[in-house]
Amino acid sequence: MKFNEFNFHKDLLKGVKIAGFKEPSPIQVKVIPIIENGKDLVAQAHTGTGKTAGFGLPLMDKIAKKEIERALVITPTRELATQVSDELYHLGRFCGIRTITVYGGVGYGRQIALINKGVQIVVATPGRLKDLYKKGKIDSFNPEIVVLDEADEILDMGFLEDIKEIFEYIPQNRQTLLFSATMPEPIKELANEILTNPQFISVLAGDDGTTNNVIEQFYYVIDESQRDEAIVKLLETEDIDKSIIFCRMKREVDRLTEHLQAMGFNASGLHGDLEQMDREEIIKAYRRGESKIMVATDVASRGLDVKKVTHVFNFHIPFDPQSYVHRIGRTGRAGKKGKAITLVSTDEFKELQRIQKEVGADMQLATIEFKDYSEDRAIDFELLESSVRDVTIHDSAVDFIDSMEDMDYHEFVERVVSLLFVDKKISISKIGYGEDSVRSMIESYYDEQKVARKSNRKGKRR
Ligand code: AMP
Repeated sequence: MKFNEFNFHKDLLKGVKIAGFKEPSPIQVKVIPIIENGKDLVAQAHTGTGKTAGFGLPLMDKIAKKEIERALVITPTRELATQVSDELYHLGRFCGIRTITVYGGVGYGRQIALINKGVQIVVATPGRLKDLYKKGKIDSFNPEIVVLDEADEILDMGFLEDIKEIFEYIPQNRQTLLFSATMPEPIKELANEILTNPQFISVLAGDDGTTNNVIEQFYYVIDESQRDEAIVKLLETEDIDKSIIFCRMKREVDRLTEHLQAMGFNASGLHGDLEQMDREEIIKAYRRGESKIMVATDVASRGLDVKKVTHVFNFHIPFDPQSYVHRIGRTGRAGKKGKAITLVSTDEFKELQRIQKEVGADMQLATIEFKDYSEDRAIDFELLESSVRDVTIHDSAVDFIDSMEDMDYHEFVERVVSLLFVDKKISISKIGYGEDSVRSMIESYYDEQKVARKSNRKGKRR
């Protein structure tokens, strides 16, 4: 299918062409006609599928053709809001559509002035948008199309009440579009509340060449003490362009970033405690490739769409499966291949199993072996001397010495003994347990669980 089959406004097609989009992605083929027809829509799709253009193009087409005047896009984070605005700006710039991004942490004045001046698209995070409506500052902004982007993330971040309140200020006769990577019960309830006879579409791994099926997923079972060493070895041995390393805590982001920088890696850290300006600068530098490794918490990188992220690492396995899906969705974007690597300790088998079960993730167990030059083991001369004196002389050793008789005898002996020392100093190290060990670890984990459950039940009966 071609983009010009959608009958988009010619100036919009110009934007699509300049953006280099050759043909619509599977989700775009499905959602664009529904949106053009004015229907409400619930779309289940991961990031990286082209969903932004999926809703952005038809809504900008309607604005360009003067069928509607205004649209609102609600996103969970400031970063995603900026990213959506950028994409809309690039696609819609030849139509002269005015877009503004609205989020917290910065002054109100400019945002209010621009909205009231008559922007056509507002891309906003829930908290600030609710404040503006509540304070009566943007009464004139009555969008005819409202998009909830990454709705599961919006709810996860605790914005449900804000969303409900926002919809009280928005006209009823609107078109509402809800996009979400996962469809837990609260999303379905929200959809029931704010959408009217929606059409449902789903683009998941399997029927779409741009999502999960291009992300290879691996996990390493390691000892807790090996985490830093494992991540360093992986960074050294994998063929990486840009990577993101997800941590569970801000403290850990800071510590790991410093550790990697001290080891000479070009890493930067991103988490919610940083000032908005700093966050933006860090993301910009990462986008430009000035830093290649982003160490981040989930919150800081929701919705992040950066090109050439070839690897996502989970320094710790995330607690919940949805977070896993979102994290790995930062790679394998726009049809490119990606690799997701998770470090798991035996304490984390529970999370591993939950993710494998709920997400149906196709995670393969992996190990890496490498020569370890760092272990400069002391050579035990006494032991060596007695070994040399005791060893039985092999016939092949005599033949070998004969074959080397052109070499100075002393030099020959020194070389042979050095060979012995080199062997002693280099060891083969391994990160990650192999399949058999992991199987027996998981079995004993299961047994422990059973015992724990039994004694729990007994305790309750008493
Ligand atoms: P999204 O899922 O909206 O975050 O989009 C992921 C990436 O795919 C963005 O960088 C888009 O610019 C890009 N993209 C969207 N639609 C297309 C398309 N039809 N062809 C090529 N790239 C696209």
